[in-house]
Amino acid sequence: MSETTLASPHLLPESVREDFPILDQRVHDGRPLVFLDSAASSHRPRQVIDAIVQCYSHDYANVHRGIHTLSERATDAYELAREKVRGFLGAEHAEEVVFTGGTTAAINAVARAWGDANVGPDDEILLTPMEHHSNLVPWFQLAERTGASIKHIPLTEDGRLDLDRLDEVLTDRTKLCAFASVSNTLGTINPVKELTRRAHESGAVVLVDAAQSAPHMVTDVRQLGVDFLALSGHKMCGPSGVGVLYGRRELLAQTPPFMGGGSMINRVYLDRFTPADIPTRFEAGTPPIAGAIALGAAVDYLQSVGLDAIHRHEEALIDHAWERLQEVPGIRLLGPGPTQRAGLVSFVLERPHPHDIAQLLDFDGVAVRAGHHCTQPLHDLLGITASTRASFYLYNRPEEIDVLVESLKKIGDRFK
Ligand code: PLP
Repeated sequence: MSETTLASPHLLPESVREDFPILDQRVHDGRPLVFLDSAASSHRPRQVIDAIVQCYSHDYANVHRGIHTLSERATDAYELAREKVRGFLGAEHAEEVVFTGGTTAAINAVARAWGDANVGPDDEILLTPMEHHSNLVPWFQLAERTGASIKHIPLTEDGRLDLDRLDEVLTDRTKLCAFASVSNTLGTINPVKELTRRAHESGAVVLVDAAQSAPHMVTDVRQLGVDFLALSGHKMCGPSGVGVLYGRRELLAQTPPFMGGGSMINRVYLDRFTPADIPTRFEAGTPPIAGAIALGAAVDYLQSVGLDAIHRHEEALIDHAWERLQEVPGIRLLGPGPTQRAGLVSFVLERPHPHDIAQLLDFDGVAVRAGHHCTQPLHDLLGITASTRASFYLYNRPEEIDVLVESLKKIGDRFK
């Protein structure tokens, strides 16, 4: 099929690719790079790289501290980035946006700050078996500290949340319900709004791990009604080392800081301190200044392409991938069918091991992820130790999926 029939008319990957210098290269004896590993970390366009260069070349100084031109410029740019993220998330107030080191840091901040202050031994934390370790371990640690217990929403056979069985696990003891909007292994798009509504009806607070959805589709925290939401800059065309915690204002304002240091204070005495207001209260120390500014540039970029267009483009890619991957003998595709998934697909072959598959694909220029993708409990449930994952983004073309499929067929033949 030609690209024009597959890709959304609103997004032409050929012109998008011109913005991404890293994609224009050859690997392994001159094979064109086929990058299908954006779920691990995406690439960034010139516009974002330029924002980093501009920051360090002209406008860099520490923020919120210096009374000099560069510090004022850096502070303005940093706060402008916060405002851009606010708009990107559909949040009402800029102070609901906290810059963190990434999704992991954001979830840990909630577990430490909100969790330690609000969760007790009689409480339950409701998770799902498809969570990334980043949305499991911090809650296990919180449970260890507080004596709370952990529960999970069951999955259907095809890897969706079984909301018909939600009442078995969602009770008036559920203090927090934390789940991913999109599974990084199954690709499942979870019903955030419905689950949030039902969790709220039970009196639970909701945290959404949006690491795999925010880069690919519109996020509207007010429409979804979530209390906390976490994302990573490096998965959405921004730099690594920066991410965001969104927190509903009333909730954030009642939450004490957990990390102490500079900036997060209002006043420090010899033996005590008073915390700053939100969001600064949660941004102790020097923040990721250039990272946040460049994340603002990434938000501009994604919005200029259009989140809806990106989503539709990836839907077309996953349809194509789903159809073509069936041609690979012995392949098992993990998770629900293409209509209920985002633009990534994990799979196993009877032989060889996913690590060998990834290595052999790499010889054909194809970059994929192999392993447990930080979802070991999910892999246990699926009865496998590892899988291979191909993930797509705005710059991928259907022809690249064809290269993946042909390479997989070759690998299959070799291990017959
Ligand atoms: N949650 C999900 C669903 C992810 O896919 C990832 C990264 O792969 C994370 C959390 C952790 O993100 P980070 O490593 O950027 O903190």
